[in-house]
Amino acid sequence: MQTVSTLLDKDWYERYKAISRLNIRSSIYDVTNRCNLRCKGCFFFSSDEHKAAPEEEDPARWEEFVEREQKRGVNLAILIGGEPTLYLDRVEAFYKRLPTYCATNGLIKIPRDRFPGMMVGISLWGDEEDEKLLRGKDAFAVSSRNYAGDPDAYYLYTITPRQLGRTERVIRKIADAGLKVHMQLLSNDEGVDGFSWTPSQLSDIRGEMDAMLDRYPETVISCRYYHEIITTGRMLGRPFSWSECPSVTEPLDNRAPRPKRLIHFIRWAADLKTMHRCCTSATRDCTTCKDGAAHMSWVMVNKRAHMRSAKDLQNWIEVYEMFAKLYRFIPW
Ligand code: SF4
Ligand code: SF4
Repeated sequence: MQTVSTLLDKDWYERYKAISRLNIRSSIYDVTNRCNLRCKGCFFFSSDEHKAAPEEEDPARWEEFVEREQKRGVNLAILIGGEPTLYLDRVEAFYKRLPTYCATNGLIKIPRDRFPGMMVGISLWGDEEDEKLLRGKDAFAVSSRNYAGDPDAYYLYTITPRQLGRTERVIRKIADAGLKVHMQLLSNDEGVDGFSWTPSQLSDIRGEMDAMLDRYPETVISCRYYHEIITTGRMLGRPFSWSECPSVTEPLDNRAPRPKRLIHFIRWAADLKTMHRCCTSATRDCTTCKDGAAHMSWVMVNKRAHMRSAKDLQNWIEVYEMFAKLYRFIPW
């Protein structure tokens, strides 16, 4: 039988050992139902998740809740919404107790004297033209001013089909702002004309993502295997689907047989009681889901399947390292 040590040489084995110590247990939290943007294709608003539950408004209840989450074994809190920066006291309830990652559209600057070192992921949807069309404004113009040079922030660049041939300009602008970038693909949950992927566009964007990684290795946090998985929706010949998705809320997961999945993962609504189905939208058709985190977690929970060759296991290590870098479990 193949084992990790027979498959890997010394360097790869060291890399494997560094990540196998991590034991990441993440969950996702809607900090608020409000946002200062309304992007076309936002999974949160398009699926009415903002109406699923009222917000808990008592800061003490947020603090008690985070303490319960700590006891549940969570060691990575991923804050989304709505826009978390509208309620910094709630963000602080997490930040003071747990390694915390805050997703934001970047329009409000997180005060670094209050949140030193907190990982911030700034959403960016295509270039200026795409952002004006889908988000109603060029959010990058504001967010890049707010976060330029911040060593603990990076862009989460959602690539749309219209970005084909245009990604390099965006990556360069991010590099010029002294920031890093991770790429993912638009799922187009609201069916905006011209923003749904065709198979040939997916194949082309994979080549472009590979080229960006090669040309801007100091700026792009990614790996080729992730590009393959996200653009083909296939891993080791298996299609990504509801029956494979690892990012389903554990207490609601009644799939049989149960696939490899994130242990104890829950996505909580802002009332701190209601749970959402998964890390994105409860109404999204899983066959159209391009969620980057769900795809990389899919790889990560399937280590054993990647032990069929050295190359497969190295691919698995690179995706795991990428995830660990994005949430600062290992340095960039
Ligand atoms: S900024 Fe984020 S939460 Fe707000 S509408 Fe856009 S995608 Fe949704
Ligand atoms: S929509 Fe995406 S993240 Fe949610 S269950 Fe389906 S595949 Fe998983």
